[in-house]
Amino acid sequence: MSLTIGVDIGGTKVGGGLVDENGNVLATTRRPTPADDTTGVIQAVKEVVEELREGREIEAVGIGAAGWISSDRSTVMLAPNLSWKDEPLRDKVAAVIDLPVVVENDANVAIWGEHRFGAAKKHRSSVLYTIGTGVGGGIVVKDNLLRGTHGVAAEIGHIRSVMPDGRTCGCGRTGCLEQYASGRALTRAARDGAAEHPAKAAVLLKLAGGDPEAISGRQVTEAARQGDEIALAAFDSIGYYLGNSAADMVNLIDPGVILIAGGVVDAGDLLLDPIRRHYQEALGNRAKVPVAEVRAAELGSKAGVIGAADLARHREIVP
Ligand SMILES: [Zn+2]
Repeated sequence: MSLTIGVDIGGTKVGGGLVDENGNVLATTRRPTPADDTTGVIQAVKEVVEELREGREIEAVGIGAAGWISSDRSTVMLAPNLSWKDEPLRDKVAAVIDLPVVVENDANVAIWGEHRFGAAKKHRSSVLYTIGTGVGGGIVVKDNLLRGTHGVAAEIGHIRSVMPDGRTCGCGRTGCLEQYASGRALTRAARDGAAEHPAKAAVLLKLAGGDPEAISGRQVTEAARQGDEIALAAFDSIGYYLGNSAADMVNLIDPGVILIAGGVVDAGDLLLDPIRRHYQEALGNRAKVPVAEVRAAELGSKAGVIGAADLARHREIVP
């Protein structure tokens, strides 16, 4: 059995998994992510790897991290959430664990996991949206991750074709998809709607103790399940932007499948139905010929660990 370790460096935790060649996760562990401290993050990665490798032969380690990763998969060029700039993560981790290391963007490792073992495994080309605090993107074309010239391709969350002069984004531009289609955008739409039309948000406001600003993402999902008009409108709003973006991806990539991942996907068809409806509308005549299905990702929060471990296993052959 060939074993590699996948590590997912998130904003709050460093999660790791021991993964076999079929994408099975045999063991997991985690450490808290030390804020603003790269030495601490490398120590956390080391501890995760050491715990998982105990008594076993490990081939390599793959790391997924939010941020812009250099095309040679060695350096985190910029990671706003972790305050990293030009951090030679691969070599620093390799030095402390003495194993080959591959570093990749977090959404890229997630789509790679889905491509190899999850909802995209029947397709050679696919697109993934991860809907969390922001909107992450990953693209596989003909069994290869789309990394681009500098390693920073597939940043779908920062494409602004739908609303070029819109809200200010953390990336320094305005109107990015992320500002309209993230989990945060869902909550914001519900808060604004409930403040403006309280009579249509009775369930939502009851769940939030009467204060629109106290509405949480989870409450939006719960209220939508109970038919709350404003909560359903909030899902329709992010569905509009995601559906339109997905239609743009069809025009650009013509993928076999478009996957939606991230915490908000727990809402199921409450999220997927509006995306599909707006997607169909936005496709126009393109819908008259074969087109990608929009569906939920399958591997959930394990996708990153599984994808990172697989990229580490195939580090010599996956460009
Ligand atoms: Zn942006």
